[in-house]
Amino acid sequence: MNYQPVIGLEVHVHLKTKSKAFCACSTEFGKSPNSQTCPVCLGFPGSLPVLNETALDFAIKTGLALNCKINEFTKFDRKNYFYPDLPKNYQISQYDLPVAGKGFLKITLDGKTRRIGITRAHLEEDAGKLIHKSSSSLVDFNRAGVPLLEIVSDPDMHSPQEAYEYLSTLKSILEYLEVSDCDMEKGSLRCDANVSIRPEGSKELGVKTEIKNMNSFKGVKDALEYQIKRQIKMSEAGEKILQETLLWDAKTMTTSSMRSKEEAKDYRYFPEPDLPPFIIASNKIQKIKETIPELPQEKIKRFMKEYATSEYEAKILCASHKFAAAAESAIARYPIKNKKAMINWYIGPVLEEAGKLNTPPHLLEIPGGNEELIKLVQFIEEEKISNLTAKSVFSRSIAAKKPASQIIQEESLFQISDASELESKIDQVIKENTASVNDYKAGKTNALMFLVGQVMKKSKGKANPKIAQELLKRRLDNA
Ligand SMILES: [Zn+2]
Repeated sequence: MNYQPVIGLEVHVHLKTKSKAFCACSTEFGKSPNSQTCPVCLGFPGSLPVLNETALDFAIKTGLALNCKINEFTKFDRKNYFYPDLPKNYQISQYDLPVAGKGFLKITLDGKTRRIGITRAHLEEDAGKLIHKSSSSLVDFNRAGVPLLEIVSDPDMHSPQEAYEYLSTLKSILEYLEVSDCDMEKGSLRCDANVSIRPEGSKELGVKTEIKNMNSFKGVKDALEYQIKRQIKMSEAGEKILQETLLWDAKTMTTSSMRSKEEAKDYRYFPEPDLPPFIIASNKIQKIKETIPELPQEKIKRFMKEYATSEYEAKILCASHKFAAAAESAIARYPIKNKKAMINWYIGPVLEEAGKLNTPPHLLEIPGGNEELIKLVQFIEEEKISNLTAKSVFSRSIAAKKPASQIIQEESLFQISDASELESKIDQVIKENTASVNDYKAGKTNALMFLVGQVMKKSKGKANPKIAQELLKRRLDNA
């Protein structure tokens, strides 16, 4: 029998606010344990939460970018469960009236575009962090109360590849919106996956398992692949698949059972009495809508149209909105109609240099800025400098914090295209290499390249090889 996997994803995003969701504590990462806490986020009796307006704005912004309906009437609820990293024994979350309702996200896979439904996106607070030692466990509450947006997809994905593409697309949108730093290592983007299988063609959903603890997109893909295989094997053996929560172990590449899955009723949700329900004004939504920038998919399409890039090139250029902005400001200003040279330069040497320095490409400091880069690429186009020399000059200009044109000037690196200047070098080469000259005349055309090489050597690499070859050939053929 053929099976179809059915996958839904829950993505938890740390919103990039300066303070926590319901108190004024800092959200800064990496501070000493429990240094960023107060009676509210530690759940002291009598302390009262106050909603962070920026967290709400970010949630609305994300909801709009994901084509969600924003619930103008919204409220917070208590999700009750006991766990040592949860100081209040409940989490402030949203149950039946989340900030963002139904929406969708478009993904492109193998050239085909698919629409993945978004079930909802709701605001909640993060829990603390447990650190397990060999004989004890410690808890750090710095993360408790950090605003989270939980984005839940419909069970619309049918392969681990689709799940991977959904996550990358979502991450890129969140980065463009500047609502999260999306750093998986710092835990600011976390993902749980629900997966079930059903016989192909069936509309019914199978029993799903939830996989937790995946800390990379590749981890999600691996875990899904493993879990789908496991479920198919169980189903074929006539075993019953249990609804449970599984942990992914990236080392052994297997999942293990964590607990049987809770359902909503297990959490005894009830409205948060300390935060009254409220109305999001429609002009607030409108104002936030106006702050949404051009999103990655639109930008990729525009780059392809405006600058005649391939889809592959556009994707590289638009991977981060800051890099796209830096590249576009140079590409758009490049005075030559065919922008190809400038585009190649950005997806080539600029990315390479940033990689060498381990710096995000938009932060690469180009001495003299884009003006210098434009000049350099134009020099290549005008054959004033070879591509190879230009690359080395660019690399050195960054290391020395000196504009590229200054290095070219100081080391007089412009190619010699001036015929009279080249003639004297050609004279010398012909005089010094009679054997090769005779070879060429005897029909061995390879000898010409050797002679061009000698001219290059004499000019310390500065001769324009095309012109040198033309002049040499003319001289030898006419002699
Ligand atoms: Zn606090």
